[in-house]
Amino acid sequence: MKRIYVIGNPVKQSLSPVMHNAALKHLGLDKMYSYEALHLRSEELQSFVNKMRNRKFHAASVTIPFKEEILQYADIISKEAELIQAANTIYSKNGMIYAHNTDGQGCIQSLFDSDVILKGKKVLIIGSGGAAKAIAISLLLENIKSLFIINRTISRAESLSHEINNNLHKTVITGSFQDLSQFISEVDILIHATSVGMKGTSEGISLIPSSYLHKYLIVLDIVYNPMNTALLIDAEKNGAKTINGLGMLIYQGAEQFELFTNKKAPVEIMKKSILEVLE
Ligand code: NAP
Repeated sequence: MKRIYVIGNPVKQSLSPVMHNAALKHLGLDKMYSYEALHLRSEELQSFVNKMRNRKFHAASVTIPFKEEILQYADIISKEAELIQAANTIYSKNGMIYAHNTDGQGCIQSLFDSDVILKGKKVLIIGSGGAAKAIAISLLLENIKSLFIINRTISRAESLSHEINNNLHKTVITGSFQDLSQFISEVDILIHATSVGMKGTSEGISLIPSSYLHKYLIVLDIVYNPMNTALLIDAEKNGAKTINGLGMLIYQGAEQFELFTNKKAPVEIMKKSILEVLE
């Protein structure tokens, strides 16, 4: 049995076991692979990777707070993980430990899935945490026209902008929430990538005043629980095209599944399994 885990702290809230197990079962791979949540302490991370080296464990989805720390234990780091300086995926192949990040591509794929064309578009990201960073870098690799970033802690947006400038030689326009109205009036796509709006902590709250949203805007909220966030409800009322965080969740998981098993991910099965939990 090849053992795969989602490792984090905390980890019990993760929906990854639901969608990976549904995919393994659907493809008849559940006798060959197991997928479980594993709560790790920071000091246990290295021994987890050692077990991958000893072929006791096969792979892992990596979640908060280990996405940055895990890089030091990998032999081969993908271009995306290197640019983001964080990995959400590790797996062993031919005796080597690979680290990769599928969050950014998951977001891009969910935009494509909703027929969004990125080339030449102006995009505003709200947030500068791990997810925002992954999305920003993936968007710039897709040749968007310009990127704006707003964050509560402006210094975090600025340091992300510096990193992007150093590593990708692209300019990002950063601002505070005072710039929100002006930035929204300039962009085609708005991506909300903070944790505000999440069930249990801030459900029903949106950082973006409804009056700023309009029908020419595409609005993606990466918060997936609830799927219909306050931001998306406001955006829809104002005639904007809306995309929820489910697609990103599924596609980042689907790419992981393919790296873990070398099999095409059954995306619809993964989606159905998550919908059964969230609805
Ligand atoms: P993170 O690294 O902890 O970053 C959190 C971000 O939210 C920071 O920009 C933070 O701003 C901002 N924030 C938090 N509370 C705020 C508030 N009250 N007002 C304004 N800004 C606030 O988290 P993350 O990993 O990037 O994840 C962010 C969200 O994305 C989470 O809800 C997560 O579930 C979701 N997510 C979804 C997917 C998906 O597949 N759909 C994938 C990854 C993450 P400061 O810098 O000022 O603290």
